[in-house]
Amino acid sequence: QEDVFKKLISHAKEYGFIFPSSEIYDGLSAIYDYGQNGAELKSNIKQYWWKAMVQMNENIVGIDSAIFMHPTIWKASGHVDAFNDPLIDNKDSKKRFRADVLLEDYCAKLEEKAQKEIEKAAKRFGDAFDKNEFETTNGRVIEYREKQKTILSRMAKSLENEDLADVKALIEELEIADPDTGSKNWTDVRQFNLMFGTKLGASADSATDLYLRPETAQGIFVNFLNVQKTSRHKLPFGIAQIGKAFRNEIVARQFIFRMREFEQMEMQFFVPPGTELSFYEEWKQKRLNWHLALGLGADNYKFHDHEKLAHYANAAADIEFKFPFGFKELEGIHSRTDFDLKAHEKFSGRKLQYFDSERNENYIPYVVETSVGLDRLFLAIFSNSLKEEVLDDGSERTVLSLPPALAPVKAAILPLMKKDGLAEYGEKIFNDLKFDFNMIYEDKDSIGKRYRRQDAIGTPFCITIDHDTLTDHTVTLRDRDTMQQERVPVADLRRIIDEKTNF
Ligand code: ATP
Repeated sequence: QEDVFKKLISHAKEYGFIFPSSEIYDGLSAIYDYGQNGAELKSNIKQYWWKAMVQMNENIVGIDSAIFMHPTIWKASGHVDAFNDPLIDNKDSKKRFRADVLLEDYCAKLEEKAQKEIEKAAKRFGDAFDKNEFETTNGRVIEYREKQKTILSRMAKSLENEDLADVKALIEELEIADPDTGSKNWTDVRQFNLMFGTKLGASADSATDLYLRPETAQGIFVNFLNVQKTSRHKLPFGIAQIGKAFRNEIVARQFIFRMREFEQMEMQFFVPPGTELSFYEEWKQKRLNWHLALGLGADNYKFHDHEKLAHYANAAADIEFKFPFGFKELEGIHSRTDFDLKAHEKFSGRKLQYFDSERNENYIPYVVETSVGLDRLFLAIFSNSLKEEVLDDGSERTVLSLPPALAPVKAAILPLMKKDGLAEYGEKIFNDLKFDFNMIYEDKDSIGKRYRRQDAIGTPFCITIDHDTLTDHTVTLRDRDTMQQERVPVADLRRIIDEKTNF
C-alpha cells in the first residue's frame, strides 16, 4: 500500500501534475504546486462541479468572495474560540508539543521498534530453528503493538471530543517522552488555533490583525442578502463558490489529502426553518450520485453519519472515498441550522432576515451545505485512475485512465515522421481543433514511446498521421483504454473526440 502511494506521488511529479512547493529551496511542508497537467485536470474538475451546481440548477448561483475578511467574522463563526487542536507543554524542557505530532512520531517509533524485534526473531529462527522462541518474541511484539494501538485509537476519540483530561491521561499511559530529553513531565494540555494570522496595513502599530480564511463558507454567509436581493431568488436557493482556504494543520502528511493551503468547492443552500432535514437528505443523495457519475466505482464510496455534531449543526455526514490509505472523508454535507446567519446578525448588528411572502413572515433562513475539497477530489480521481497493466505480449504499461471529460489533454496529434508534409498536415489538424480541445502536438521519438507518454498523462485519443493521410485524408485513432486503433476520416475527428470527452 505504501509502495502504491509512493508510486503515485512520483508519477504525479514525473508527469507534471504535482510538484512540492518551493522545491529548489527544499520545499514547504504540506504545500504543493500544480504543474501543467495538474492545473488542467484541476480546472476540469472545477468546471465539472460548477456546471453540475450552478448551470444545472436554476436556483443556485455562484460567487467569488475575497480571502481576506473582516476579523470579527471569525469570532461570529466560532473559529477564534473553537477551531483548535491540543498542545502539550513539557515542564522540564519548557518545550511545547502538538499532541497529534507527538502521537504520530511515537507511533512511527513503535512500528520501527516492533519491526526490528521481528527481524531479530526471524534471524534467530533461521539460525537456530527455534520455533518456540520466534513465536514468543513475535507474540510479544504483536501484543505490545495491539495494546498501543488500542490506546492510540482511544486517544484519537478523546482528541475529537476535545476531552483534554482524557488525552492527558492516555499520554501518560502511552508513556511518550519528550524526544530530546526523555522527560515525561507534562504539565499542561492547551488548545492551538488552526487559523493563519496576518496583518493588514503598512505601519506596525496601526495594522489590523487578520486571518486567512479557514473555510470559504463565511464569504457566502456574509453575502447572503446581497445575492438574494440582486438575484431576486426566493427560498429555497443556493450560493456556490470555489476558492482557497488555509489551515495550519498539525498532522499534514498524506500528500495533497491534508494541506495547509487548499481549495474548497462549497454550496450553501438556504431553506425555510423546519424544512432543513429533508433538504439535507436530498443533498446527501444528490452529492453521492454526482460522485458516482464520475465512474470511479460505487464500492469506493460510503457515507459516514456523524454521531457527535459540531456546535453549528443538527445533522452531518461525510462521503468517504477509498484512498490508497483507506476510507477517508472526501466531502461533508452539513445541516448548519441558522447558526451562522444568526451569529452574523448579532456581531454585525445588521438584519439578515428574509421575507417569506408565502408564510408572510420574516425569518433567518436555515442552511444545508455541501463542501468538497478540490485537492482531495483530485487525489481520489488520480489514485483511482493510475494503473499498471500487463499486456497480451507480456510487456507492461502505466496508464492513467481518467474520466475522459477530466483528462488534461484530450488528443495528441502525432505525425509518424516530420518529413514529406506529415508535420504540416498534423499542424493543420491541430489548428483546426484547438478551439475546442486542449491538445498536444508531438513529432519526436518512436510512435510507441509517444503513445506511452500519452497513456501516462491520461490522454483519451492519439491521432497518427501517416503517408496515406496525405491522399485519403484519414488518420489512425488510438483509444487510450482499449489501445484499439481505427482508421477514421479527418473530417469526423471533432465529433468523435467531443462525444467521448464532453461533460
Ligand atoms: P478533516 O476531518 O479531514 O480535517 P474537516 O471535517 O475539517 O476535514 P471540513 O471543514 O468539513 O473538513 O471541510 C470540507 C472539506 O474540505 C473536507 O471534506 C475536505 O475535502 C476538505 N479539506 C478540509 N481540510 C483540508 C485540508 N487540510 N487539505 C485538503 N482538503 C481539506
